[in-house]
Amino acid sequence: MSADPLNHRRDLAVRAAVERGLLADDHAPVVGLLDVAAVRESARALHAAFREVAAPDQPVLHTFAVKASSLVPVLRLLADEGLGCEVASPGELALARAAGVDAAHTVLDSPAKTRTELREALVEGIALNADNPRELARLDALMAEDGGRAREGGPAGTAAIGLRINPQVGGGAIGAMSTATATSKFGFPLRDPGAREWLIEAFRTRPWLTRLHAHVGSQGIPLELMARGIAAVYELAEEINAAVGRRQIDTLDLGGGLPVNFDSDEMAPTFAAYARLLAETVPGLFSGTYGLVTEFGRALLAKAGTVVARVEYTKSAGGRRIAVTHAGAQLAVRTVFVPDSWPLRVGAYDTKGLPKTDSPVVQDVAGPCCFAGDLVARERPLPPLDEDDHAALLDTGAYYFSTPFGYNSLPRPGVYGFTIAENGERDGDEVSFATVREPQSLASIVTESGAAHRDALRG
Ligand SMILES: *Cc1c(COP(=O)(O)O)cnc(C)c1O
Repeated sequence: MSADPLNHRRDLAVRAAVERGLLADDHAPVVGLLDVAAVRESARALHAAFREVAAPDQPVLHTFAVKASSLVPVLRLLADEGLGCEVASPGELALARAAGVDAAHTVLDSPAKTRTELREALVEGIALNADNPRELARLDALMAEDGGRAREGGPAGTAAIGLRINPQVGGGAIGAMSTATATSKFGFPLRDPGAREWLIEAFRTRPWLTRLHAHVGSQGIPLELMARGIAAVYELAEEINAAVGRRQIDTLDLGGGLPVNFDSDEMAPTFAAYARLLAETVPGLFSGTYGLVTEFGRALLAKAGTVVARVEYTKSAGGRRIAVTHAGAQLAVRTVFVPDSWPLRVGAYDTKGLPKTDSPVVQDVAGPCCFAGDLVARERPLPPLDEDDHAALLDTGAYYFSTPFGYNSLPRPGVYGFTIAENGERDGDEVSFATVREPQSLASIVTESGAAHRDALRG
């Protein structure tokens, strides 16, 4: 995908959204827009990247990490493009089901699975990766009891069970996103004393353990480090299979974590570059011996999404120009709280939704939340934003509007998918919108804030 079409499509969509009242003053000062063609393109790029390096007929299941966009129509769109779901909570599993993603295309990875979740996964044939020895002990108990029977006779067949390995290869640029540090909370630490022997014995005594899983981190992890983590897990699989004398491990789950470039419209690094690096670093991965699973999230969707917020006021304080918009911490949680790790590009559009071209001036772009740090950009040179203009947060298709934060009882924004036809009669006509999620109503906020229990504390 070249850079031009993406930003051209975004400009058309912002203008159409403004023209058609998606940001109307009375109900929706901020929206999320999703470029449906860009989502399809990135799913296809992922498939193509692995097809290029995989052995003919090697099974590869690409799942989408639901936390990156927990929206049912998005999961459905990705399912149409051949992607399953990676889920990490009962809520995410419910979303995958609502999207029509079947158990055979779902992988459960939470680090805190309850007994109920484990049993349900076994019964329904949902693949799962156990995180730690205590979880494995729970699985032992379930396999020995009704869970084991249910698993064998379950409607969806046999749930594949794996262990999540922490290859302990180290962290990347963002500590909170680095899951393969020595002391990470995730997975079985591979380099701790005695770990390899323990893991070999765990597989030897449990013929139903057939997978290894690793997710080295999310955003900020260099590709080489990701590949080194996968190499460690591949070598472990070979060692375990040699020790038990058969190919007991038949599938490797490589996790997600491809970083996103938040500096430009370019998709870099690409899935193809990562797949090629994996093929160079771990050639055996693509020999066809193992089935593969992936769990990408951010890289599939980030570039496809844009938050558009109305500028409510502009003001100045201490010589600083400030635009007060409707997009802040309730949508851009990480950007607001950890701004150095999560900078976003901001696009300036005028009252009609057309790109502003005036010479840049330094300004802060603030959100609507009642705390001083609620800024999505600080001292950013941008065409001067004015009252009733629009500020767009770019590359926000993953983990932004789909993952809101309920601060100040601000409603979740509406989300609309857009597609662009070739033959619009007039500029703007060619854009069509489909509702992905309605803007949250005030009634819904009141309901979820305990309205039904109004008098509960009065004694
Ligand atoms: C978050 C997560 C992913 C997806 O990570 P991205 O950086 O969005 O690709 C995949 N697997 C696991 C286990 C995760 O926790």
